[in-house]
Amino acid sequence: MENTTPSRRFIADLANLEATREAEAAFTEKHGVALDHETISSLKDTAQTLWSGGSDRSFDALREILLPFDRKTVGVDWKARSLSYQPGSIIQAGFYYLLQNAHLAKRCANECSKRFFFAKRPNERYCSSKCFTEAQRKTKREWWEAHAEEFKERRKK
Ligand SMILES: [Zn+2]
Repeated sequence: MENTTPSRRFIADLANLEATREAEAAFTEKHGVALDHETISSLKDTAQTLWSGGSDRSFDALREILLPFDRKTVGVDWKARSLSYQPGSIIQAGFYYLLQNAHLAKRCANECSKRFFFAKRPNERYCSSKCFTEAQRKTKREWWEAHAEEFKERRKK
């Protein structure tokens, strides 16, 4: 699925970020964020863990990202009888997007280079039709490889 909003693009790019200095430089440039290598690694780790269902540690990290000390990100929406969240940075916006779309945050079953993606429906398993087709081909090939001997044996008889 297309990554249509900046926050969605940011969080998907972060989760799929290659562990090279070049990829990190391109990432910070593209999203206009000034982050060092350590911070990127830790944010990426949190994003990937959350994407894969999360852990207590990653939920703590998410809270630290979304709710800094000054609390300006949290407002009161009296009409909605609820608290509202106002991201103060693309990082917060990205992680908030991930939180709100956690049910659609999937890992491509084809384990491709862009494996962290947002699905249209909760039961989608592949990031694209290309990955779906590739996975199908692979399954067929593996099936044939696994059964090739059997067929040869049968033919001999
Ligand atoms: Zn894929």
